[in-house]
Amino acid sequence: MRKTILVVEDEPKIREGIVDALEFQGFEVVSAERGDEALSKAIRMEPDLILLDIMLPKLNGLDVCSNLRESGVKSPIIFLSAKGRESDRVEGLEKGADDYITKPFSIKELIARINAHLRRRDFDRVEAMNQNGRSGPLRFKNLTIDFDARSCWRDENRIHLSEKEFLILKILFENIGKVVDRETLLREVWGYTNLGLETRTVDVTIGKLRQKIEETPSNPTLIKTKRGKGYIIENTA
Ligand code: CA
Repeated sequence: MRKTILVVEDEPKIREGIVDALEFQGFEVVSAERGDEALSKAIRMEPDLILLDIMLPKLNGLDVCSNLRESGVKSPIIFLSAKGRESDRVEGLEKGADDYITKPFSIKELIARINAHLRRRDFDRVEAMNQNGRSGPLRFKNLTIDFDARSCWRDENRIHLSEKEFLILKILFENIGKVVDRETLLREVWGYTNLGLETRTVDVTIGKLRQKIEETPSNPTLIKTKRGKGYIIENTA
């Protein structure tokens, strides 16, 4: 599932540059040039993340941000602003923003920060499902996994997983909502650095894992295959 980003910026050149770069990264992008427009679009869409300029016509970015938080919109907000003074940053964060990037910025940095916020948000969602808090077992759909104790249950039934199966689950959960490619799994789980031939090993182990954790292993709902890309645990909570 593609993540949606709302880009709010009144300067056409900057806006178009950001939109192009984000689309190139595979994001679904919606843009707005005025504050009031940003507010209504954000409330309607609840995007996965909002990039918000401060100096905007109609309603400035700070007011857009506080209005959104008052309306219950929880999307991470990153301010983009030429105002780089510390007091401006503090004011932005006090209005409920998650981050603040000073113009001019590099697209590379912007994308790195966006990805960091999206990952954190996905992880927060899984954490929120885990009633025992950070140190307890993770609950996801009908699975309960205690990574520290290396135990796993499907509904009430204890399942025995191999070390590699555990590691695969852990990596997929750490990257929840993102496709993890076979090469990454080979490297992280098997320690292979000489890549290219053995990716079938990953498929075989995922197959065994599905036999244990999926209701219908031939039609998996927990670990999904992205053809030609890798595997993903989708956050559908
Ligand atoms: Ca502006």
